[in-house]
Amino acid sequence: MPGKNLSRDEAQQRASILAVDGYRVRLDVTSAPDPAAATFRSTTTVAFRCAEPGATAFLDLLAPTVRSVTLNGRALDPATAFDGARVHVDGLAADNVLVVDADCAYSRTGEGLHRFTDPVDGETYLYTHYEPADARRVFATFEQPDLKAPFSFTVTAPAAWDVRSNAVHTEVTDEDGARTWEFAPTQPISTYLTAVVAGPYHVVRDHYSRTLADGTVLEIPLAALCRRSLAPYFDADEILGVTKAGLDFFHEQFDYPYPFGKYDQAFVPEYNIGAMENPGCVTFREEFVFRSKVTDAAYEGRANVILHEMAHMWFGDLVTMRWWDDLWLKESFADFMGSYGLIGARTRYTSAWVTFANQRKAWAYRQDQFPTTHPITADIRDLEDAKLNFDGITYAKGASVLKQLVAYVGSEAFFEGARRYFKRHAFGNTELGDLLGVLEETSGRDLTAWAAAWLQTAGVNSLTPQVTVDAEGRITELAVLQDAGNGDVLRPHRIAVGLYDRDADGALVRTDRIELDVTGAVTVVHAAIGRPRPALVLLNDDDLTYCKIRFDAESLETLRTGLGDIQDELARALAWSAVWNLTRDGLMPARDYVALVLRFAGQESNIGVLQSLHAQAKGAVDLFAAPARRGEGGRQLADGALRELRAAAPGSDHQLAWARFLAQTANGSEHLGLVRGLLAGTARIDGLDVDQELRWSLWLALAAAGQASDEELAGELEADNTASGRRQYTQCLAARPTPEAKAAAWSAVIDSDELPNALVEANIAGFALPAHRDLTALYAAPYFKLLERVWSERTIEIAMRIVGGFFPQAEVNEATLAEADTWLDGHPDAAPALRRLVLERRDDLARALRAQACDGV
Ligand SMILES: [Zn+2]
Repeated sequence: MPGKNLSRDEAQQRASILAVDGYRVRLDVTSAPDPAAATFRSTTTVAFRCAEPGATAFLDLLAPTVRSVTLNGRALDPATAFDGARVHVDGLAADNVLVVDADCAYSRTGEGLHRFTDPVDGETYLYTHYEPADARRVFATFEQPDLKAPFSFTVTAPAAWDVRSNAVHTEVTDEDGARTWEFAPTQPISTYLTAVVAGPYHVVRDHYSRTLADGTVLEIPLAALCRRSLAPYFDADEILGVTKAGLDFFHEQFDYPYPFGKYDQAFVPEYNIGAMENPGCVTFREEFVFRSKVTDAAYEGRANVILHEMAHMWFGDLVTMRWWDDLWLKESFADFMGSYGLIGARTRYTSAWVTFANQRKAWAYRQDQFPTTHPITADIRDLEDAKLNFDGITYAKGASVLKQLVAYVGSEAFFEGARRYFKRHAFGNTELGDLLGVLEETSGRDLTAWAAAWLQTAGVNSLTPQVTVDAEGRITELAVLQDAGNGDVLRPHRIAVGLYDRDADGALVRTDRIELDVTGAVTVVHAAIGRPRPALVLLNDDDLTYCKIRFDAESLETLRTGLGDIQDELARALAWSAVWNLTRDGLMPARDYVALVLRFAGQESNIGVLQSLHAQAKGAVDLFAAPARRGEGGRQLADGALRELRAAAPGSDHQLAWARFLAQTANGSEHLGLVRGLLAGTARIDGLDVDQELRWSLWLALAAAGQASDEELAGELEADNTASGRRQYTQCLAARPTPEAKAAAWSAVIDSDELPNALVEANIAGFALPAHRDLTALYAAPYFKLLERVWSERTIEIAMRIVGGFFPQAEVNEATLAEADTWLDGHPDAAPALRRLVLERRDDLARALRAQACDGV
């Protein structure tokens, strides 16, 4: 069987001779509730033109069986026309009609048409997910973003189901217990953006209307969907409230009426990613329907995703990148608009830029320091490259750079550029130059140098202040030193320099803010000369640019004794981010970072920042602490968690976050005893509701410590026999500290491809606990042996999880590093995407070794 890949060259060649007039896709999913039925009927009729009559071409299709292929009335033999991944056609006319009748497979991996059976009520749910190239698992298609076309779907499903697609349905007919839904033709859209959602979904309907500038009224029917068994937890009012605020805001900013008719948002099971911007039919991971108490950071995160996907209706769906090289043209914008929109649409999430600085940028900095980093405008040779490029560069660095661009050209020029871009390229495809063109028009600036520095080079710069003072303690020079970092480029940075001192109450407050352009290796901040030397010099205050910030010695000392005293939330988040980067870079010992968290996290008011600190402190102890200090660090974290849990306000988000952190860190008998007491109801923390999700976190702590019996875990599953319960039960089983438990988890993932994506993930998460490194060390050698087999036999989504998740990352030693290097040296011709994943894990390992060396001295 040929590869499932598609190269950019092939796509370019195909687009150069073909234009698609439209697809009619007929799907019959009446068999879906029968678990024995592996396939569904898929019939595609595609009308397309060919500029070179007589030429050959191919469609993409991943299907177990093709029943027939008919080109312009001529039957082709499927045995020769279909090779398992492509349908080859020859003798094309100027105008063509091709019909492909196939049996396609229901998916367990979240790629294509995913099928899920709810353990609560036995109901079956279907939804599609395609990006970048899985529409071909559901119908025959020219699978590339620049062959846009209108799509007309017809879906036959069990009669009691609701069926949704990108467009509204126009007709419903019933026959033999089945119901057939005809959908209106879509606008011209890319194949990866088409969607079908089908099942007995719970639906909440609403409506949005808006009077446009020309006086016409835009009507947008709204709907929010989730599984029936989640309906009691579905806060559709909150979701639809954010939705309407977003529609108001983006209409004001973009001045282009929402072009896709209605707006459905479906929360679907076992979803691989956060959400997908299918026009008129957005799909979200259903973990956004909260079964138990979550912190406000989770609500903010969901609102951000709602606005991110909505921004895609314009950036991505209306105007689409030509090929995956320019994926950033939609993802960087949507990522930026997620945070920008939370503020602009006047939602209650006023700390959106703090979250961005603290979390999205951490993702970008990490990714941008891998040896595999790449410019924001990437070189994407094929679909495997594309799949890996949904990364911290394309999303978070790209959004950071757009934030810097707004600071550089001004928001008015930026949004006027966006408005022209939509009008000029509506329903078309674009590249970098198309965007720069409109921005140059509206800003009057030549953006060539800016784009070269920020979009076409990789790596992150570091900025360090250099301060000299006179005998009176006045600044004689303040310079910003720029380091190229892991790239070889110095960039123009628009930054603010914040000067901070203690006020009468002891808080660290900003006494001065100086905004300037930093260029080259040394930039003198003239405006600072003559001012009193402050306690803290904070570069990149207000987080305008994208860089790692460092400190002079005196400022660093101020942070050690008073980081938590910084009054401003964003400045404090920047300081936290900077000390984490110092720790990752092996410039601050892990024990010092942990000490900072233990000392100041209790004062951290921003719940999202606090939860990041928890994750980072845990990572610092697990991976960056010198092995001899690891045990002590772990005890300190658990003690700190317990202390802050008892001190937190009853019923607060902070209390819940500390309870979860206690569950993650509990190791001694005191901590584990409390965990057991909370589960049994014999211990109470005032205001802490030990609800279902928290119960599973607590069980995971006991399971990982070898203190949860099989009967106890099975009993918890019986009490919560839901999709979420099954995942967490599976994770608990894999988290038990025995050779048998690890072997079972490994085997479940590796030796069979029967497990759905969600349970693959749960097994890996339970298996790979850093505390169990002695047990999992045995699997390093088999891991490297089976990499290529996994890559060739499993779908890319599952292969990525296995390669990333089973890498022996907790074995931080030279021997593991050598094993990784041996594999890399011995497999120069392995798939580039596979090598990239291994190189990144290997780099994490090398970084952890450097950090451990720093902590060991
Ligand atoms: Zn997106």
